[in-house]
Amino acid sequence: MRGVTFDRHGGIEVLQYREDLPIPAIGPNDVLIKIHAVAMNHNCLWARRGLPGMDILFPHMNGTDAAGVVAEMGSAVTQWKINDEVLVHGGFSCGHCVECSRGHPSFCPEFQIWGFQTGPNAGGEAEYARVPARHLVSKPANLSFDEAAAIGSVLLTAWRMLVVRAHIQPGNFVLIWGAAGGLGSIAIQLCRLYGAKSIAIVSDDRKAAFVESLGADFVINRHTQRINREVMAITRRRGVDIVFEHTGAETWETSTYCLKWGGTIVTCGATTGFKAPLDIRFLWNKEQNYLGSHFGSVSEMIDALKFAASGQIRAIISDTLPLCDVARGHELLERGEVFGKIVLVPE
Ligand code: NDP
Repeated sequence: MRGVTFDRHGGIEVLQYREDLPIPAIGPNDVLIKIHAVAMNHNCLWARRGLPGMDILFPHMNGTDAAGVVAEMGSAVTQWKINDEVLVHGGFSCGHCVECSRGHPSFCPEFQIWGFQTGPNAGGEAEYARVPARHLVSKPANLSFDEAAAIGSVLLTAWRMLVVRAHIQPGNFVLIWGAAGGLGSIAIQLCRLYGAKSIAIVSDDRKAAFVESLGADFVINRHTQRINREVMAITRRRGVDIVFEHTGAETWETSTYCLKWGGTIVTCGATTGFKAPLDIRFLWNKEQNYLGSHFGSVSEMIDALKFAASGQIRAIISDTLPLCDVARGHELLERGEVFGKIVLVPE
């Protein structure tokens, strides 16, 4: 089968588009899916470049967000049938430990992000993939395969951050970093859904127009405007109720400054670096909350996808590329030129 792998860390030159990969063998509880679309994530870049303290198993195959049809089922699989249209929930866990039973699969000792921490040769950037049957979710009928792949993980992650962890409420002010990106474009839509007011941070006018079209209530260009001053003017000097963080070191100080007393920063990532200053006085004096959030459960994905099925949240696709053009996808993502998601199509 065709697929993209790499057997060392480096630039885009390490990516290999291959046509000689074996179709994965499945176990009794697995499903073989024929992939119609797979969306790119920042973890494609992390895995290719390598991250300190993380061992990638080579040959590595990227791809956390795939959508396709059931092509074959293991002997113990009863919940799916051939040709069912599915998307993959890419946060694999054992399903039976105490943390999984409590509904915290990301605390499971076996938790792995598919196509990032799995391997060798185990990800969605291929024609076929082996997936545990309980990590498949029915594709909403109104979504194309491209849209389903594009929305899966970002909707789940943003949903867990805002709804499950930060308890977004009507009337809340929510500051959204990287608002035109994969997570940010969903966060704006979730704010609308919950009656909250989004303050979208972007880096240029094209992105500003795009986030306005998604329904952002306020837009700040981080290169031409002073974020602190704008946020204080918008919120009448109170600060925001929630900061939607994933940008990390370069933005953290501004995030803490813009947060109101008793407010919540919720973060799932650190695109610009892991180390950030912490003024401990804010934690106790202002009773601020700093929350981590990582991926989400299958049930949370099903809950969130209902709003994609109803049309209230839509998938945002920046570019659709053939899988053999994966290197271009890496370049676009690396240059920050993406509006929403990049989708790769195996055929
Ligand atoms: P995108 O590339 O789609 O968007 C990232 C955005 O970050 C860009 O649009 C850019 O917006 C903004 N950005 C980049 N540099 C800076 C900077 N110096 N200051 C302010 N903003 C900046 O990525 P995603 O939305 O898909 O993912 C974002 C992060 O979240 C990644 O680190 C990813 O790994 C992580 N993540 C974590 C998950 C989890 O479960 N833990 C799940 C999904 C993602 P602009 O330049 O316009 O301001």
